[in-house]
Amino acid sequence: MNVYDSERMADVLAPLGYGLVETPDQADMVILNTCHIREKAAEKVYSELGRLRLLKTAREDAAGQMILAVAGCVAQAEGEEILSRAPYVDIVFGPQAYHRLPEMVARASRAGKAGGKGGAVLDTEFPAEPKFDHLPAEKANTENAERTAFLTVQEGCDKFCAFCVVPYTRGAEYSRPAADVLAEASRLAGVGVCELTLLGQNVNNYHGAGNDPRTPEAVWGLGRLIAEVAAIDGIERVRYTTSYPAEVDDELIAAHRNMPELMPYLHLPVQSGSDAVLKAMNRRHDADFYRRLVERLRQARPDLGLSSDFIVGFPGETDADFAATLKLIEDIGYVQAYSFKYSPRPGTPAAMLAGQVDEDVKAERLAALQDLLNAQQLAFNRSCVGRTMEVLLERPGRDPGQLVGRSPYMQAVHVEDPALAIGTIARLRVTAGHANSLTGVMTGAERMPA
Ligand code: SAH
Repeated sequence: MNVYDSERMADVLAPLGYGLVETPDQADMVILNTCHIREKAAEKVYSELGRLRLLKTAREDAAGQMILAVAGCVAQAEGEEILSRAPYVDIVFGPQAYHRLPEMVARASRAGKAGGKGGAVLDTEFPAEPKFDHLPAEKANTENAERTAFLTVQEGCDKFCAFCVVPYTRGAEYSRPAADVLAEASRLAGVGVCELTLLGQNVNNYHGAGNDPRTPEAVWGLGRLIAEVAAIDGIERVRYTTSYPAEVDDELIAAHRNMPELMPYLHLPVQSGSDAVLKAMNRRHDADFYRRLVERLRQARPDLGLSSDFIVGFPGETDADFAATLKLIEDIGYVQAYSFKYSPRPGTPAAMLAGQVDEDVKAERLAALQDLLNAQQLAFNRSCVGRTMEVLLERPGRDPGQLVGRSPYMQAVHVEDPALAIGTIARLRVTAGHANSLTGVMTGAERMPA
């Protein structure tokens, strides 16, 4: 989501004459787009700011200017703190203020040119009504021939998982009207995008205003939205992330059964396999609900690959709770997953709970969990050997002549064949499965997406 937001920031700044550069020392403005989800991510901001300060000072010593801005969820949650810890920052703005960026830049730029500080610009207002107006969807930059793109269809979150800052930093859940989503998807397809990932904090609870003249009042769910996006000329692959298990509906399960464009890979975070922990986390599913849901999804799409997020060491988590998580992982079998030590976040209910787990216990549990997940990932990658997969070739690899692409399951696939080109979907036969990637060879049929 931050990648998507950063691209839109570049779009709104293009009319002011800003373009993207490769390194901060070439830049007239540096925007750090930040993440507040765990403490480590938030702390990185301050070390990064320290480094940028040196560049900014050097620029000013040479009578130049560099605007330094902090965007995103750390800005939203700790705006005042940023300005006191790093008073040289010019602009601090939260995820709901991105559309006001040009004004903020103009103000900061005037303040800088007037010499010294005109006072930093701080914008962390939330709109009274949630609404998707934080950034225009216009794509100013049509030069890049990216084949794969993100598209935010839903903003914010109302779930209030006890560990999570998202509802506080990104505001209330809001689904973008389908007409806007389809217009942006068509525009992206028009500049060569063939794979779209629909984004939302609980994307499967999408319920945007529909776009069907026969049923003008109807609200669309994600299943319908995916079908309409997949029907756009040029769109060959659709993905969505991230889903909340308790809100997967029949329409979405049917989409996995019926739509070949919908990739057979689903990120479905369970967080824990212990019902007591899930309840304390304020998740609205228990482990058996999750098992049954996966069962139904696999009935619809037998080759579905699953991924998840896990938190170890949530307050009160016992050895038995943790064992239940390992058991769930054994039962489900993941193709890959993300896992984290619980990180207390200021203002969230779980940070105040008794029974905080020792760091060394968290570290032990995380290592055991990751051993199991890594073994499952390797087993899955090895099981792909001999299969033919459609791989969207995205970029050059490290070795000369090597290309890297993505399989339907998001695996990185390496291939060396002079006949292949970036931007194509190649049919590759998998010859080796490694911890984090596959190796493939061309099977003869390469095709260029429309
Ligand atoms: N709704 C989004 C949430 C993004 S956060 C989504 O489901 O993708 C991604 C993951 O970070 C969460 O699923 C959770 O596993 C982890 N996470 C969130 N808050 C955390 C915390 N306080 N400590 C550790 N991990 C956390």
